[in-house]
Amino acid sequence: MTPLERALRDRILSEGPITLEAYMDACNSYYYATRDPLGAGGDFTTAPEISQMFGELVGACLADCWARAGKPGDAAYVELGPGRGTLATDALRVMRSARLDPPVHFVETSPVLRAAQGEAVPGASWHDDLSTLPEVPLLLVANEFLDALPIRQFVDGVERRVLTAAGGLAFDRDGEILEDSPARDEAVRAIAERLASHGGAAIIIDYGHFRTSPGDTLQAVRGHKYAPVLDKPGEQDLTSHVDFQAIATSAGSAGAAVTPVVTQGQWLDRLGIAARAASLARAHPGRAEEVDAARRRLCDPGEMGSLFKVIAIHSPTWPRPAGFQ
Ligand code: SAH
Repeated sequence: MTPLERALRDRILSEGPITLEAYMDACNSYYYATRDPLGAGGDFTTAPEISQMFGELVGACLADCWARAGKPGDAAYVELGPGRGTLATDALRVMRSARLDPPVHFVETSPVLRAAQGEAVPGASWHDDLSTLPEVPLLLVANEFLDALPIRQFVDGVERRVLTAAGGLAFDRDGEILEDSPARDEAVRAIAERLASHGGAAIIIDYGHFRTSPGDTLQAVRGHKYAPVLDKPGEQDLTSHVDFQAIATSAGSAGAAVTPVVTQGQWLDRLGIAARAASLARAHPGRAEEVDAARRRLCDPGEMGSLFKVIAIHSPTWPRPAGFQ
């Protein structure tokens, strides 16, 4: 039994069954606080860890948007859940070559990952949540951040709970599932309010669906394999598909402009990943095959290209970031 499972069993014995939302919150807080989950030796691999091209194109997109907004001198780079700081490193390198060298603010709760981010990006500042970010135009990125925030599930209109069962944990009910996520709605609302009042643009990338739809999308991943979601609490990554329609609704109602939702493959294509891959291959002929394999992994519909979606939220007074038309 994991230490967290023992604590959850005790909690359920004293409080009664806990909501899936409380379960997911407890599991992911423990999980991220106690390890670096990324890469071959960890549980999963993300787009910035696949290739430098991903962060570079994010940086190019933000630098271009900032330039068209009139190059405000006080803009800050913000990343939510920056992992190992790889995306930030690649994005900031491109931004600096466009004469944009913003202060860096990371929203991150994990001490283990904060340490890795500090090595990758010297001079960064950290925040526990969005409330303490500076009141300036923000160039914000969130890749695979929202998927880790807790969700609720409903069966026949009743919120699903977790209870103890022989040898482990179980759900209190089964049936057709509807999901929502107050934690995601709240994070998106906080982003949108800041962009609307102080300017800036946010790029949000995650796996998920274009429209709100029924279905159970909660999943656990451990050692690059799917696992039952109630197994080994706190020792495996729990995520669910992000509802991009809900993101657009929350952002719009908080006064920000939103772009259409596009697939990651389309977005990277429109930002010129083919040209970037060709130039990397010319500069490192021995790595040409590896670069092209990475491009295909990021963009092909059978790989990450269609499942992952991208939306931008921006100040109504800022131009629309590139790649969404
Ligand atoms: N964006 C990175 C890492 C994705 S993993 C990449 O693409 O590689 C999810 C990240 O979100 C981790 O950095 C994790 O520690 C962070 N995270 C998860 N829940 C969080 C929360 N509630 N508040 C702040 N950070 C959180």
